[in-house]
Order: sequence, then structure tokens, then C-alpha cells
Amino acid sequence: MPDEMQRSLIERGGDTGRHRPLEACGSELDTQIVGILGTGDFSRSLARRLVASGYHVVVGSRTPKRYVALFPEEAQVTSQLEAVSQADVVFVAIFPEHHPTLLELKPALAGKILVDVSNGMQIKRGGPSHAEQLANMFPESFIVKGFNTISAWVLQTGPRDGSRQVFLCSNSSKAKNSVQAICRRMGFCPVDMGLLSYSAEIENLPFHLFPSWGTPILITVILFIFFYLYNFIRDILHPFVTAGESVFYKMPIDTVNVTLPSVSLVMLALVYMPGLLAASLQLRRGTKYSCFPVWLDKWLTKRKQFGLCSFLCAAMHAIYSLCLPMRQSARFKLLNAAFKQVQQGVEKVWSDEGVWRMELYISVGIIALGLLSLLAITSLPSVADSINWREFSFVQSTLGYCGLFMATLHTLLFGWDRAFDPGQYRFYLPPTFIVVLILPVTVLFGRIILLLPCVAHQLQQIRRGWEKSRHVRFALPDDDSYNGLDNSHV
Ligand code: NAP
Repeated sequence: MPDEMQRSLIERGGDTGRHRPLEACGSELDTQIVGILGTGDFSRSLARRLVASGYHVVVGSRTPKRYVALFPEEAQVTSQLEAVSQADVVFVAIFPEHHPTLLELKPALAGKILVDVSNGMQIKRGGPSHAEQLANMFPESFIVKGFNTISAWVLQTGPRDGSRQVFLCSNSSKAKNSVQAICRRMGFCPVDMGLLSYSAEIENLPFHLFPSWGTPILITVILFIFFYLYNFIRDILHPFVTAGESVFYKMPIDTVNVTLPSVSLVMLALVYMPGLLAASLQLRRGTKYSCFPVWLDKWLTKRKQFGLCSFLCAAMHAIYSLCLPMRQSARFKLLNAAFKQVQQGVEKVWSDEGVWRMELYISVGIIALGLLSLLAITSLPSVADSINWREFSFVQSTLGYCGLFMATLHTLLFGWDRAFDPGQYRFYLPPTFIVVLILPVTVLFGRIILLLPCVAHQLQQIRRGWEKSRHVRFALPDDDSYNGLDNSHV
């Protein structure tokens, strides 16, 4: 009698598609019944994950028989009313515009925990969130917002490094705790975001497109356009206008390859610039307890993105440079030079200065790229989490400044003595490397000033809480009537 054996001993009746076998109730762990409303993609993946985590799952559908085959054997697919009356925690896996259709379940949902997993169509900038609307519809239920940032695919494949966090909020801490427990048992990391009023933020999270990358990418693009045009005018337009020489073939590789390191170095200087500005503000104000201007605050928080943009440009510069000899134009140039040499009867071409300059230039460039790679790797959250604060600041600050110094030296070696050659000032424009060096040299110079013992000592005191305005100065009395205590601010 195989059919008899598989049938549940406790029949639950209703429009039931499939029943949970009683044997599954054996252990203490899997006694909790979790309900899901809806039979779509999210519901199916969630059901699979819940079943795999040892829960009894009861899915509520408008047409259970139609979808029963899509769910795991262990899950029970039944009517919506049946599902919500069995479970204490119910995941509402239907679109928010269909929430009002659940109103007929209001009595059955009273006292139950409803997990709203819904996302809207776009970022919402006002008005109640979907979770708050659901809470208004079901005042006797406990609404928890969460799981909307987890895709059906992630639920199916299981939590992975980048998508383990589940943001939860609710006005009922008991309800939130229950959902947190479910979350943990499924292998996710619950993140308590507080009250339901935070649900609008959670609902907007999936719509954010790299929110902290906008300004760094925009500045990278602006710098790229600026330096590209600058190099184009100097290296391509100038020979064309003055000597009729057409070197437009340089546009796709040569010009890009001199533009990329320029952008990279300026972006790297922009990583360390806000730190210097913050330090000088603290020194000027004589306190660390006053706010930085908003723009400086924002700049400080985006240093990682600036650094990664700089690294991207440096890495591309390295690849472009390695590919330079592969070009047809480079081969022609080499052959022509050799041919010219033979014609002129020159046996050996060798310039010690040129050789040394190139050796040093390449070596320093490789070291700079290596240090930048280290900075980029340690900015990854998984790596940053595995090192302590001192190690992190050593890499990001000390090694970062070494990287900036090496990249600056690389550019200086590239320029060599060209700054003093009048022929390099085409259209009265200074060579690109001079323009590029302004910011990094300023930053390095500023850093050296901050390292001077008198400045470093004062900054250290300020950062440990010392304040200039609270400093009480004792002065000798001018006359007998004065008790000698001068409260004036130093
Ligand atoms: P879906 O595949 O379209 O499923 C929606 C389900 O809602 C339907 O299968 C339907 O099940 C049910 N439903 C109940 N009342 C309904 C009505 N009046 N009209 C239409 N359908 C109704 O959608 P989904 O992708 O699973 O998404 C479900 C919810 O999860 C949405 O709020 C979504 O924002 C959220 N979510 C989805 C994902 C994802 O990766 N898919 C990720 C995060 C959050 P029955 O016909 O069986 O009743």
C-alpha cells in the first residue's frame, strides 16, 4: 500500500494540492511551519531553501493544483487561506499591487508574522513604503520587511559571499527575531535595520546603481577627455598644422597610452588630497570636534573609488605599453631607423643616458603598479575584513604614499629634461607630464609638511582630543586687581 504510506496522517482538508508527510515532523528543529503566499519564481526558490533548511513549507496559491508540480516534494501547496492558517510566519511573495487581494485573509492573518519581500518598480522618494502599506492593511499582523534584496536565483543556489546579507526591519522586535532565526538557519546574515519606517530605504536598495561611484567615474571621464584633447593638440594637431605631417594613426593607441597614466596619477593624488585638507583644517581650527564641509566629507568617503579608478587606468596603461611593439607602425619605424643607420654608415647606436632613463622609468613604473595593485586588493571587503586597522592603514596610507611617490617618479623619469627644451612647448602648451605633476607633487609636499615633528605632534594631539579653544592660558597680572587668570583663547 505505497499510497497509504505516503499519505499524511493528519489531513488538513481544503483545496490542497499536496500534503506534508508526517514522518518529517519527527525532530524538534523542523516543527516550525513557514507559509508562503504566491507561487512565482521567488516563492519556488524560497520554498526550496526553506525545505533544505529543515522547515515545513506550506505554499498558498489561488490555484494550487496548477503549480504543485513546480515545488519540492516536501512542500505543501494549498489554498491561500489554508496556508496562512497553518503557519505563524508567512512570506508574502506577491507583487505589492496585488497586496489588497489578500484582505479577505485578514482574520486568518491576525497575530501572524508577515514578511514583505516585495520590490517596487523604481526608487520611491516619498510616501509610505509597500511594507508600511501592508502594515496599514493588516494592523493585527506583525509586518517584517526583508529578503527583497535577495534574488530568486541566490535563494536557489544558496548564500554566497556578496549576497549573504538580508536587511530586516520591523516595529515588532519579537517578529524580527523570528525572521532573523529563519534567516540564519537558511545560511544568510540578517542585518537589523531598525523600525518599519526604514523599509522605504530597504525597498530602494535594489535600485541603486553603484551609488558611490558616480563622482569618481565622472571625474575620471572628465580628466580623460581633458588629457586626451591636450595630447591630441600637442602631439597630433601641432605637427599637422606646422609641418603638414599626418600622425593621426597615433589617436587609438599612442594618445590613449599617454592619457591613461596622466589620469591615473591625478586620480591617485585625489585619493590623498582630502586627507591633507582634513588635517590642515584640523590644524587651523585647533580641534577635531568640528564638522568638515559636506564636500570634503563626501570626498573622504569616496577615496576607495578614486583609488580603484586610478588603478584601472594604470593597469590599462601597462597593457597598452606592452602592446606598443606589436603595432605595424612601430615595426616600420624600427626598420626605417635601421635603414637610415645603414645608409649613414653608423655601426652602433647607443646612448647611456637614454638607456638608463628607460631602465629606471620602466622599473619604477612596475613598482608603482605593484603598490597600486596591493592597495586595490586590500580595499576588497573580504581582504579588508581579514586584516586589523593598523595593517589596513599601513597599506592604504604608508604604502599608498609610496605608490604615489613611485608613480610621480615614473612620470618625472618620463619627462627627464624635456621640461627645459623650448621645442616641447608646442602651441605654448607645456608638456603633459608637467601639467600632470602639479597635483601629486603638491600632495607629496603637503605630506612632508605634515610629517615635520612640530606639525605632526600638534596634529597628533588634536586627534587625541586636545582643543585650542579650551586651552586656558595663565598670564602674569598686569595690575594687582587682576588675579592672573587669563581666559582668552589662544
Ligand atoms: P511572480 O513570478 O510573478 O509571482 C507572483 C505570484 O503572485 C504569482 O505566482 C501568483 O501566485 C501570486 N499572486 C497572488 N495574487 C495575485 C494577483 N492578484 N495577481 C497576480 N499574481 C498574484 O513574481 P516573483 O518574481 O516571484 O516576485 C514575487 C515578489 O517577490 C514580488 O513582490 C517581488 O518584488 C519580490 N521579489 C522577487 C525577486 C525575484 O528574484 N523574483 C527578488 C526579490 C523580491 P498564485 O497565482 O499561485 O496565487
